[in-house]
Amino acid sequence: MPELPEVETIVRDIRPALVGRQLGRVSLSHDDILSGVTRRTLLRGLNGATVQSVFRRAKHAVLDLGARRLVVQPGMTGSLIVYDHPLTDEERRYAVLRAPLDDGRELVYRDVRRIGKLRLLDAGGWRRYTEAIGPEPLEPDFTAARLGSALGRSRQAVKKVLMDQRHLAGVGNIYANEALFAAGIDPSKPARKLTPDDHRRLHAEIRRILEAAIASNGTTVRDYRTGTGEPGNFQLELLVYGREGEPCRRCGTRLAGTHLIDARISVFCHRCQS
Ligand SMILES: [Zn+2]
Repeated sequence: MPELPEVETIVRDIRPALVGRQLGRVSLSHDDILSGVTRRTLLRGLNGATVQSVFRRAKHAVLDLGARRLVVQPGMTGSLIVYDHPLTDEERRYAVLRAPLDDGRELVYRDVRRIGKLRLLDAGGWRRYTEAIGPEPLEPDFTAARLGSALGRSRQAVKKVLMDQRHLAGVGNIYANEALFAAGIDPSKPARKLTPDDHRRLHAEIRRILEAAIASNGTTVRDYRTGTGEPGNFQLELLVYGREGEPCRRCGTRLAGTHLIDARISVFCHRCQS
């Protein structure tokens, strides 16, 4: 699923087109992407609402509509796009949520396989939602010490802790693999065995890699598209993810791959990571 850099890219792309705009009559093609809200409540909450702000929390895009917030969790095949032309047949085919804007443009949540989720939260729902998620890695309150205390309490593999949204927001499989390689840490290492020096390196690499990925508009592995419908470019800079069996870019050793840590693919270098 799109991780922090991809969702941040989408949010930055659509924000200028949405802030201050009023939504017209919203339509929804399927109910199966709704989470904790009925079609009726969703449409009643969206119709006629004005977008106050657009921001990202973890891997989700959030439209602040004043009384309520629309939280969009794009699935592997999902994206939010603002179209400035009438939708083509192909664009219409996968448009799950369509929200006409008062300037003639249209906001669309597009999802080929409909594995994303839409939520509509009031103030209390928002508080419960955001309090269940850990710190944002690019915010100042995410420090090496805070990362260290989350890791120090866990017997689990360090990679699992990095991807656990209760400890850290927005990092998934791609960026956990990349950050651990850059920091020279074996993804299967028990989190509490990391040293303060490991915490500092890992903290710095997580931030550096996420910033670099945002600068490249995210990573396109399958269907991810930016908020303007373009693919991202960070896949060109990935050092381990998707490179199992290929030579390590640092030492030339064949990169190993395993599904044993968390059922997802972990790719790493035996020689560079310990
Ligand atoms: Zn290596």
